[in-house]
Parts: sequence; structure tokens; C-alpha cells
Amino acid sequence: MLNLFLPSEHVKSIFAITPEQLKEKGIKGIITDLDNTLVEWDRPNATPKLIEWFDEMRKNDILVTIVSNNNEQRVKSFSDPLGIPFIFQARKPMTKAFRKAIKQMGLKREEAVVIGDQLLTDVFGGNRGGFHTILVVPVAKTDGFFTKFNRKIERRILNFFRKKGMINWEDSL
Ligand SMILES: [Mg+2]
Repeated sequence: MLNLFLPSEHVKSIFAITPEQLKEKGIKGIITDLDNTLVEWDRPNATPKLIEWFDEMRKNDILVTIVSNNNEQRVKSFSDPLGIPFIFQARKPMTKAFRKAIKQMGLKREEAVVIGDQLLTDVFGGNRGGFHTILVVPVAKTDGFFTKFNRKIERRILNFFRKKGMINWEDSL
């Protein structure tokens, strides 16, 4: 059960994820969280560096869908200028939104990766759905109201994994 909280991979940031690495694993599409994964939870728009990252994925035919638990206004106003499909109020860790995303991208689950900054929503949901999951270090040290509670539980789970020697990264959270 606890293993469902263990990500397949852990990286410092979204920018450590390259089209080449994804292609090696047979990945053709990305399902990514928004807040504290792509940008700080309170930053309204993408940074120039992030826009470049999206362009790089596009050039390499890697599809991207933003799947966020946040509301329509937040997710739409962020995603629309980038021309990236999105699902808002996704209710992660429920897996319905992930299934919808791969259907829209025309991919099988083995061809998609789920990326996010939270164990309890992104990683747990992605693992439950049978996806390859990548945990990123949160972009900001602060969180929105509802995330604060999840972080407390998350810290406990990470400490457990550390004690058991199941993870070796230190300073992520
Ligand atoms: Mg997040």
C-alpha cells in the first residue's frame, strides 16, 4: 500500500526531464501537475524558461496535458496562452482525469508519464492508475491552503521511506 506513494523517479525540477530520456522509455506524452510543479502556486503565467521547455517537448512530438486539482480560472488562464490542453478540478488522486488525459492524447498508459510535486495527489494517483510517475521538488517552499495539510502527511511518508532505505534523496521537502 505505502509503495503506491513511491515515485518511479525523483528529479530536482521539471527542467531535468528531457524529451530524449522520455523517448528512451517509450514515453510519448506527459500528464503534468501545475501548482508548484511547473511554476509557483501563486504565479499566474509560465516563465520564459518553461515556455522553452514546452517548445522542446513539442518539437520532439511529446504531447503534454496539464491536469490540476485547482479551479477552472487558474488552470485555463495559465494553459490557454501556451496552447496546452488542460483538465481542471481533476480530483487527484482519483484516476479519472489521468484516464481522460491519455484518451485525449490518444496514448496508452505505458506511453504516458505523470509528473507532480505531491505524493498524496500526483504520485499516489499516478501509481494507482498504473503510470510511470516522476516527483519533482516543489518550485516554492510555500503552498496553497489545502496543500499545507497534505504536506504534513507527505513528510511522514518520506521519512518512513528514508528510514527503510527506499529513497536516497535528502533535501527535497
Ligand atoms: Mg502541485
